Amino acid sequence: MHSRRILIVGAGLSGLCVASQLIEKGANVTLVDNNVNYSSRIAAGMINPLVFRRMTKGWRVDEFVPFLQFFYVQMEEKTGTSFFHPIVIRRMFSSEHERELWLKKQSRDDFSEYMHVVTSEDDQYDRAINNFGSGRIKNGAYVDTEAFLNAMKSWVEQNGAVINGQFDYTQLKGTTYNRAHYDDIVFCEGYLGKENPWFGSLPLHQTKGETLTIHSAGIPEDESVNRKCFILPLGNQSFKVGSTYEWHTSTLHTTELGRATILEKAAHLTDAPIEVIDQAAGIRPTVIDRRPLIGTHQSHANYHVFNGLGTKGYLLAPLLSKEFADYLIDNKPLSEEVNIQRFNTTI
Ligand SMILES: Cc1cc2nc3c(=O)[nH]c(=O)nc-3n(C[C@H](O)[C@H](O)[C@H](O)COP(=O)(O)OP(=O)(O)OC[C@H]3O[C@@H](n4cnc5c(N)ncnc54)[C@H](O)[C@@H]3O)c2cc1C
Repeated sequence: MHSRRILIVGAGLSGLCVASQLIEKGANVTLVDNNVNYSSRIAAGMINPLVFRRMTKGWRVDEFVPFLQFFYVQMEEKTGTSFFHPIVIRRMFSSEHERELWLKKQSRDDFSEYMHVVTSEDDQYDRAINNFGSGRIKNGAYVDTEAFLNAMKSWVEQNGAVINGQFDYTQLKGTTYNRAHYDDIVFCEGYLGKENPWFGSLPLHQTKGETLTIHSAGIPEDESVNRKCFILPLGNQSFKVGSTYEWHTSTLHTTELGRATILEKAAHLTDAPIEVIDQAAGIRPTVIDRRPLIGTHQSHANYHVFNGLGTKGYLLAPLLSKEFADYLIDNKPLSEEVNIQRFNTTI
């Protein structure tokens, strides 16, 4: 039997994770990408298992966290590149109420993987503005997005094929694209998926985000401090700070407002002098119910979508791409939470 020929459109985080999982299962993968990436490359790549608003665990983190640790380390070995960096994330509590929520949860078994018990050092921590004490998160990490995406794309090129250029939807006739035949087509176009002729009516939204790269001598370099925004140390006294959230905008440029908003948020964490070195803007592919868009077209059984990773793609993509590969190659059922069939559209 020939190995399954699969064409993947988009080499962002989604397309690259899906490609690697399918290659792992013996598929013959071709990846098309136009090198216009506005999300995966701009992202800070932070992985934070907690949701601070109500001090809860993120969706399925007990499954996502161990799997992503395994996945990124395995891909580091395969690509010979370092990009996965565990880091302590320190939450500077924003109120007495938030501190109490943390203290209530920190000794619970179901939070022991994610919260250190607050110590007197955490209460007195003085390397960031400290009004209500602080708590340290376990199993936080960040992915060096540039290094990850470049290494993964080269690896896919070595183990499959990469076409650099725009995917032309009009050239897809059934399962033939530019005279080559494929068994399946998987669309991973990020926010540009709105333009897709087959999946464009799915409720995919564009959530713009901006980040700053700053230089400062007064911010901790061994931890990522967090309140209203995150400050991620990059080495040599430089840091990434973000992000903003702007809904229903299709502009991609950086703005004065974005810069001012981030600096205002950072002022809740530090009063050290800050020099802005760079500013970037991107578009997250988000979904109203905060769950990804994965599945198969109702009338084109060979067309599939893997999109809508939202604000936490680097946390979700490793396991969800594995589950997608299990579905596509081994016919395992897709979870209803992510399956596009949950939207009552004609797709
Ligand atoms: C400012 C900002 C900060 C973020 N911070 C974090 C963070 O700290 N942690 C985290 O987990 N997530 C973060 N995210 C979210 C994360 O970036 C996304 O969840 C994820 O990267 C989406 O990946 P994707 O592959 O689906 O989309 P994309 O990265 O947009 O990739 C889609 C790819 O498809 C290509 N493409 C599209 N259409 C075509 C076509 N017709 N032909 C050829 N190629 C095409 C595009 O050029 C692109 O390369 C952040 C996002 C932003 C904007």
